[in-house]
Amino acid sequence: MKRIWIAAWLVLCTVCVPAWAVGIVRVERLAQAPPASAEALRALPDSAYQTQPSTLQLAGAQSGRGWWRLRPESSEEPRVLLIYHPYSARITVLAPPDYRARHASIFDPEAEPSHSRRALAFPLSAAGPVYVGVEGARYPLQIAVRSSADYAVEDHRHVRMLWLSMGILVGVSLVVLLFWAQLRERVYLLFSASMLLQLLYVLCAYGDAYTLPILAWLGRFGVAGIWFVATSSTIVTVLFLIEFAELRPRAPWLTRALLIVGAWLPLLLLLVGLVSPWPANKAWFPLLGNGLLMLANLLAVATLGTVWLRGGRHAGFVLIAWVPLVVVSTARAMQLSAGVPLTSLLEYGLPVMQAFAAVVLVLGLADRMLTFRRERDVAQLHAEHDALTGVLNRAGIITRLNRAVADSRRKRQPLSVLFLDLDHFKAINDTYGHPVGDACLCAVTESIHSETMPIYQLGRIGGEEFLLLLPGVGNAVALDTAEQIRRKVERRCCEVKGVKVALTLSIGVVECGPEDSAATLIQRADAAMYRAKHEGRNRVVLLDAQASAV
Ligand code: GH3
Ligand code: MG
Ligand code: MG
Repeated sequence: MKRIWIAAWLVLCTVCVPAWAVGIVRVERLAQAPPASAEALRALPDSAYQTQPSTLQLAGAQSGRGWWRLRPESSEEPRVLLIYHPYSARITVLAPPDYRARHASIFDPEAEPSHSRRALAFPLSAAGPVYVGVEGARYPLQIAVRSSADYAVEDHRHVRMLWLSMGILVGVSLVVLLFWAQLRERVYLLFSASMLLQLLYVLCAYGDAYTLPILAWLGRFGVAGIWFVATSSTIVTVLFLIEFAELRPRAPWLTRALLIVGAWLPLLLLLVGLVSPWPANKAWFPLLGNGLLMLANLLAVATLGTVWLRGGRHAGFVLIAWVPLVVVSTARAMQLSAGVPLTSLLEYGLPVMQAFAAVVLVLGLADRMLTFRRERDVAQLHAEHDALTGVLNRAGIITRLNRAVADSRRKRQPLSVLFLDLDHFKAINDTYGHPVGDACLCAVTESIHSETMPIYQLGRIGGEEFLLLLPGVGNAVALDTAEQIRRKVERRCCEVKGVKVALTLSIGVVECGPEDSAATLIQRADAAMYRAKHEGRNRVVLLDAQASAV
């Protein structure tokens, strides 16, 4: 398992690494404190600068601030200086010809509107060294000077990739939210909230949220806003995982630990963040936040794995959705911190994996619904069927009879009902024992089924009494059917389980009249059956509406 992780990591790190610091001949870092004015900065001698070992290592991770002098390659084309993935960094650029200070950050509502926030872009209109000041950087920044046309193509590709994934997330979240509006099950609300918060996190971290009119206000909170969204997203996602994958019953201790690390402690951190002055300025806050997030991810994977191994089917879905997301986000964070340029796999891995996770989890939700439906169907089957014979039980046949009476009225179609009772069944039980009696009941229902059409419905209304509904059938045909059943039982059930039981049936037949309800139909059919008993058993008696009224 460990080897697989290492291999995955190596693949992520090495696939299609782009060229570093495209379009820049030299990058030099100012080795002393910056002077107060732009003129003084430009007047500094070459000895004030140190050439960077790597053209990529723009900002030191420790201080997060500094000044650099860049020498772009000479070119006739209009060009832009690009500071990629700036995240928390605030950038000042002094560029020829006028060396007027230009400031930008992803949070800036006024930043260059013609590009996405994937990179801060500063158009360069003249040749000469460019000075870049950085403040508040979290990791080494990647830079490039590219032709405006080339960058437009690159940026357009980024926008397409990002918004395709975001579109999927928005769509899934809305659909699940609508499910919640109808079904009122908390898991749907948690799912939708988790997806929307993850989407908001990516938009904030990538800076594109601040270009949208409805989200631009978040820019006022700077990195604090991103922290707030990331932490809220973690809390809601952990609550969703626990509920969706039904972790608690299968791994109570791990779930408790996950709840503490992934929900309660981050919530505490959020509250501290809200009541005290912005804690991101304190070095411990992001460290603690990141540590908790990593621990929560590890615990989530461990808990899901355990539950999955213990037979939790839905935990499997979450693992498929969750693990790639954790791998990609961790790899992205590590690669950015190391100052290594992001491969496209890592750059878009997060939004693409979020969209993938959303789709897998929707499949999981559908699977969950299917499981519940199957359980409900099985429960319903048990609730409406007789365990011994498999035919409908009393409740089941009465429900069908009510429906059949209403249908016959609505469609103006006849409906007949047969009341069937085994003759001298007690004697069979007493003589040969209950197992033979049970086998007789099954043999009778089989015989009845073999003589009837699939639309006829058979139910066991009492111990050895059955009701057969014949929708669309008048009393003449019902009488024939009853006679056939009687004969079949007499023939086929004379011997059951090797015992000569000579089983017969007495059958009462009635047709539904205009005044009949389910209850009166049963009553009349029962009366007809009793008349058959009185007339000597093993016979069929039809009771018409007039006769029953007497
Ligand atoms: P009749 O011809 O008048 O209907 O006589 P009967 O003996 O069939 O009727 P009675 O009502 O006296 O007895 C019904 C018997 O059905 C009594 C009971 O032992 C038996 N019985 C009821 N449910 C079951 C069952 O699930 N299995 C078995 N083996 N016997 C049952
Ligand atoms: Mg009886
Ligand atoms: Mg009987």
